[in-house]
Amino acid sequence: MAKYKLEYVWLDGYQPMANLRSKTQIKEFASFPKLEELPNWGFDGSSTRQAEGKSSDCVLKPVAVFPDSTKRNGVLVMCEVYMPDGKTPHPSNTRATIPDDPDTWFGFEQEYFFFKDGAPLGFPKNGYPYPQGEYYTGVGYKAVGSLARQIVDEHIDLCLDAHINIEGINAEVAKGQWEFQIFGKGSKSAADQMWMARYVLLRLCEKHEIDIEWRCKPIRGAFDAPLDWNGSGMHSNFSTKFMREVGGKTYFDRLMAAFNKLMDEHIAVYGPENHLRLTGLHETQSIDKFTYGLADRGASIRVPHSFINNGYKGYLEDRRPNSAADPYLVAGRILKTVQSVPTN
Ligand code: ADP
Ligand code: MN
Ligand code: MN
Ligand code: MN
Ligand code: MN
Repeated sequence: MAKYKLEYVWLDGYQPMANLRSKTQIKEFASFPKLEELPNWGFDGSSTRQAEGKSSDCVLKPVAVFPDSTKRNGVLVMCEVYMPDGKTPHPSNTRATIPDDPDTWFGFEQEYFFFKDGAPLGFPKNGYPYPQGEYYTGVGYKAVGSLARQIVDEHIDLCLDAHINIEGINAEVAKGQWEFQIFGKGSKSAADQMWMARYVLLRLCEKHEIDIEWRCKPIRGAFDAPLDWNGSGMHSNFSTKFMREVGGKTYFDRLMAAFNKLMDEHIAVYGPENHLRLTGLHETQSIDKFTYGLADRGASIRVPHSFINNGYKGYLEDRRPNSAADPYLVAGRILKTVQSVPTN
């Protein structure tokens, strides 16, 4: 038997973007605990905007387990929040409301800013750094500083240790802006991994005294240098079994017609303040337009070359979700729309 540190992680009731919360309990197991072995737990929902003071004990139900290599016998436990009855999903529990399908795959590209003392990491005390241009995939102290690289590299290792499918990282267009990519099969598993990768990054940054800014347009600026700064997206790549194995132009046209018709439903869950980011500039489409196009980074949905070359088969990239979006809601909405389109 050994004592394991179970770090229960959940989403609070804050709007428009939930915060991650956690607390740890120590329990004994014969070996690394399986999901079925982990007990429900509770927390004070009146301190997380999830309950009134009178009946405040919300329930934490474990839904996914990840090894935590930052401590001996460490376990990260992703949880859903339930009402005190233990049966009714809490209104903040978006995971409980979405459809799932293990044959639908998602790849999220999470962009974000490192922040230090309320400004992007690397911004001078007064004024602005060099205009955008050399930061994207940049190398060298002038482009990316020294701390950011250390953190993103450590983040990769922590995600891999946790068996989170991180697929890569890169420096982004704005100073202090970075991206990591998470891939998962099924809307719930992909989004669980995404939220846990966010959690691992936030916790890692504590010791570096760095904040993460998830909001999609932290520097408003103007549209010309030196005040022109990109926003942050969470491009969502997706493919169903049918898209990967059968596809075809007829089906693709039908799919795009459905995305067009349901534009508002998608935008509603694609993250707060998205009108500030989806302007038609900075490789985005306007928030009130739906377009798709081959290799078109100014479209709502980008169709990769590989998709056309393989006879309208493979994955598509929805570029509209933003960095502060809830991946449960994004994946769930995409799956709902795809499932509404007949395959024959
Ligand atoms: P870019 O920056 O060019 O838009 P990235 O390489 O950052 O592209 O991200 C591509 C994403 O597409 C990755 O997260 C990857 O997991 C995802 N992806 C690749 N193939 C598939 C697929 N068949 N289904 C869903 N997602 C996929
Ligand atoms: Mn207590
Ligand atoms: Mn990318
Ligand atoms: Mn990017
Ligand atoms: Mn992309």
